[in-house]
Amino acid sequence: MKRTAKLSKADKELIAAATAAIKERYRYDWQEVGAALRTRSGNIFTGINLDAYLGRMAVCAEAVALGRAFVDLGDDGIDTIVAVRHPDPDEKSQDVAVVSPCGACRELIFDYDRKARVIVPNGKSAEAVPIADLLPNKYRRGPER
Ligand SMILES: [Zn+2]
Repeated sequence: MKRTAKLSKADKELIAAATAAIKERYRYDWQEVGAALRTRSGNIFTGINLDAYLGRMAVCAEAVALGRAFVDLGDDGIDTIVAVRHPDPDEKSQDVAVVSPCGACRELIFDYDRKARVIVPNGKSAEAVPIADLLPNKYRRGPER
């Protein structure tokens, strides 16, 4: 897949869905990231991060969205996924903005669809890139296949 600078209408809808999810459930220091994914069959699922007092129990918004998709549809693949961050109340800009997936989420996304597109920041805008471009030398449990 080629890197695309311009987002499609469907990509913008996905960003809007992630933004709506975190705007609805934002809680300072607890829920600050929203995510949305479109499955291969075209269904959209959203998630928000679940922070935890015991930090290692925290779950990213992308994983919550994927879990919701998997419960409803099983392994339907990930066409495109995006995460957005809600600003803290004291931040100058109150815009919800696209953020890159963390390293663990990159592994997760690749594990569930190695052809997934991921919307990532590109300056003040965003672009969609293949997950493989975000994860060189992916971790493997066994020999390469
Ligand atoms: Zn993550």
